[in-house]
Amino acid sequence: MSQTTSTANSITIDTLRKEFNTPDGTVVAVDSIHIEIGPEEFLTLVGPSGCGKTTTLRCLAGLETPTSGEIRLGNRDVSDLPANKRDFAMMFQNIALYPHMKIIDNIAYPLKVRGVSTQERHEHAKEAAEIMQITDLLNKYPGEVSGGQRQRAALARTVVQNPKAFLMDEPLSDLDAKLKVEIRKEIQRVHQRVKRPTVYVTHDQEEAMTMSDRIAVMNNGGIEQIGTPNELYNEPANLFVAQFIGNPSMNFADGTVETVSTDGVSVSVDERIVDLSLNAEADLSMGDEVVLGFRPETVSLDTAGPGFEGEITLIERIDDRMLATVEGDLGEIRATVSADDPLNVGDVVPISFDTSHIHVFDRDTGEHIA
Ligand code: ATP
Repeated sequence: MSQTTSTANSITIDTLRKEFNTPDGTVVAVDSIHIEIGPEEFLTLVGPSGCGKTTTLRCLAGLETPTSGEIRLGNRDVSDLPANKRDFAMMFQNIALYPHMKIIDNIAYPLKVRGVSTQERHEHAKEAAEIMQITDLLNKYPGEVSGGQRQRAALARTVVQNPKAFLMDEPLSDLDAKLKVEIRKEIQRVHQRVKRPTVYVTHDQEEAMTMSDRIAVMNNGGIEQIGTPNELYNEPANLFVAQFIGNPSMNFADGTVETVSTDGVSVSVDERIVDLSLNAEADLSMGDEVVLGFRPETVSLDTAGPGFEGEITLIERIDDRMLATVEGDLGEIRATVSADDPLNVGDVVPISFDTSHIHVFDRDTGEHIA
């Protein structure tokens, strides 16, 4: 299965718009989005339910006709090509292997449709099964293997097509937590091996963060931000992305800019002053209404800071750390603390945060300012 890559395999979603006419009026499912996906890139569309991820993927696949805009493979406009002529392999949440066919014939099925001889397609199916480590299952029927093994077979069925791109819509959502992690790795392994553009849809930001080269965060049919997992985590473009990316999610507190000088910026929050190590170049002026964002790992519950305090209402264990929920001067905030910290529900604790890691957002527009 030798595969070469070239920019001919890059995908461009150019100003794609998709409207649906419903009895209640027109629904704009995808609102003029533009994404370029590199020839070897793993790009994930992530966002809440109804934001337009699946519709975008279906337009890519040729299962929906765009209202306007273009889908290009390399320089070629494939918008008018039917799904079976695009050479994209698709994997969906519902695996739908044929129950009356052995695994080998399920894997080989796309080649049968193309008219490839039985011997040849079985050879290709065996190669794909080897990649997925399921060669011992080839003569079994889907009903005789586990859910995870069926998912591997479905993945092998996409690999066997030697497609120009992989399109995947929530392929892990029916699996339990352990299998999810296992199949997630298999998908990454396949991607690294066959090096074809992959567009992956999920509502799960954690899945997106672990698997992707880049992530497009969608909301209301549009794109809020496209970037690497690190960029989205460390430099969220707006409040929506800041809220969506990261688990546990970022804490927020409303504030008002009090002073801006070469020494820094001070913001009043709940009648206390927070000094931020931002310089006067930050686009902030006295009186600006802002939202401060700070991640749970930058919060400390044992050092007196600007004078905030709160009561611990919940302690959850996450791997080797604890996540404390604190109700107090800043509303409800969360802090990750060491598992050894002697904290208990009901404790009243000081709240401080690392001011060098604070994000400042415009409260009206939600845009990231600093
Ligand atoms: P989910 O995560 O729930 O699958 P999504 O982000 O994939 O959501 P889409 O399924 O693309 O979102 O839907 C985007 C919007 O378009 C929603 O408002 C949805 O109701 C609407 N929509 C999708 N398909 C159709 C259709 N065939 N007819 C009418 N409206 C549709």
